[in-house]
Amino acid sequence: MARVWESLKALGEGFALTLRHLFRKPITEEYPEYKRPLPARSRARIVLTRDPDGDERCVACYLCSAVCPVSCISMESAERPDGRRVATWFRINFGRCIYCGLCEEACPTLAIQLTPDFENCKRDILKLVYEKEDLLIDHGGKNNEYNFYRYAGVVTAERGKGEHIGEEEPVNPKSNLP
Ligand code: SF4
Ligand code: SF4
Repeated sequence: MARVWESLKALGEGFALTLRHLFRKPITEEYPEYKRPLPARSRARIVLTRDPDGDERCVACYLCSAVCPVSCISMESAERPDGRRVATWFRINFGRCIYCGLCEEACPTLAIQLTPDFENCKRDILKLVYEKEDLLIDHGGKNNEYNFYRYAGVVTAERGKGEHIGEEEPVNPKSNLP
């Protein structure tokens, strides 16, 4: 008997809830006329940002492509005459991207960032392959101040790289090559 009462109570509660919602004013957002502002940390379209001097932040270290669980980032690295590394080309296949944000987490230079822009649908799947010129924006995204090279050691009039207080000697990555 107790079970019957329990079931009837649950049924009654269910109906009461449905009844309450029947008389509530519906909340309808008229998308795309109204676009709800999304939090800055929302994870959608990916961009490549620039440092405060206007230089590309990406140093083509391959960390983002290594961490990407679906292998949708690829690039080729090169060295500028001043020794700075850059990506000669940089490609993201948004047809595979699952917007997990791991690439942004892994990036040491804050170059790659996910933005709240989710309107990224294309009828032709090949149009979801974005090249560097499609990804590169002209500002620093979420952090306009950060400049990797200021933290990774700079040469000043007083001291060289790695000689400032609290700095370590820079590692020569080429010495690790076989
Ligand atoms: S958000 Fe995730 S899946 Fe998309 S490119 Fe970055 S690491 Fe890869
Ligand atoms: S976007 Fe960041 S993690 Fe990816 S290659 Fe460039 S610097 Fe490295």
